[in-house]
Amino acid sequence: MTGPERTCVGCRTKAPASELVRVVADLPGVAVDTRRRLPGRGAWVHPRAECVEAATRRKAWARALKAPGVTVDAAELAQRVATENTVF
Ligand SMILES: [Zn+2]
Repeated sequence: MTGPERTCVGCRTKAPASELVRVVADLPGVAVDTRRRLPGRGAWVHPRAECVEAATRRKAWARALKAPGVTVDAAELAQRVATENTVF
């Protein structure tokens, strides 16, 4: 079964949602929505450092989440995305 496609905020390529990690605003930072059920607007990213860093460099998080105050530590989020994603 093919799931819905989402665009990675880091590399801007489309991928099945199952290959991406959902991130939501959790001010002042972000939360990794491992179970994909947190409310609010989500941003999707590949669970790898390069995509997290690219999104952070372009300030794509605040834009994608419509949360201007959000700040992301790319190294820390990359770590969380990589480890919390292993729940699959
Ligand atoms: Zn990506």
